[in-house]
Amino acid sequence: MLFRRRHGRWSCPARVLSRPGKSIAFNYQDSPLKLINNGHTIQVNVAPGSSISVNGHEYPLAQFHFHSPSEHTVEAKSFPLEAHFVHKDKDGNLAVVGVLFREGAENAALAPIWANMPTELGKEKAVEGVTASAKALLPSKPEYYRYSGSLTTPPCSEGVTWLLMTEPLEVSRAQVETFHSLMGGDTHRPLQPVNARLPMK
Ligand SMILES: [Zn+2]
Repeated sequence: MLFRRRHGRWSCPARVLSRPGKSIAFNYQDSPLKLINNGHTIQVNVAPGSSISVNGHEYPLAQFHFHSPSEHTVEAKSFPLEAHFVHKDKDGNLAVVGVLFREGAENAALAPIWANMPTELGKEKAVEGVTASAKALLPSKPEYYRYSGSLTTPPCSEGVTWLLMTEPLEVSRAQVETFHSLMGGDTHRPLQPVNARLPMK
C-alpha cells in the first residue's frame, strides 16, 4: 500500500522508511476535556500521564487535533478526517500518530469533543464533567507505517517520527460537516505555489 502526504512534494517531504515489526505500546488515559480552537484546528489538550512507547522509547502525549480532509493520502485517496496525536519526549523530539477516518457511521468517541468545540479562537475551554478518550480514537489493528518527516504546519521542523495507523476509523458525514462549518473550510495545509517563476513559453 502506498501513501503520501498531501502537497508533500512542495515542502516538508515525507519519506517512507519501513513498516516495523514492533507495535506501538499505547498507554492512553482518559482526561478531563480541554479544547482549544486555534483557527487551524480543534486541539484537545490532555492531562499528563498518557504516552506511547516506540521501540522502548517513551513519548508523553501532549495533545491531539484534527484535519479535514486528511493530510495523508493512501493510494492517492484522501480521507474526510484525520486525527494527529502529538507526543514529545523529554528532549523535545516529536512523535505523531496519525489516524485516518473514512465516511461511515457516527463516531461515538468524537461526539463529546464535537459537542463542545469552541467557536472562540485561542482560548482553552475546559468542559466540566466530560472526559476525552484518546484511546477510543485508536483503531484496533496495531499496524502502522513509520517514517521521518516534519510537521504539517510551518515551520517545517525536522526530526518528527510519523506513525500512520493503517486501519481507518469511521466518521459520519454530519460530523465532518460540523467540523467544516466551524473551521470555515478545509484544514489541511493550504496548497502553496510550487514556485514563483512563470513558465517559459
Ligand atoms: Zn496535524
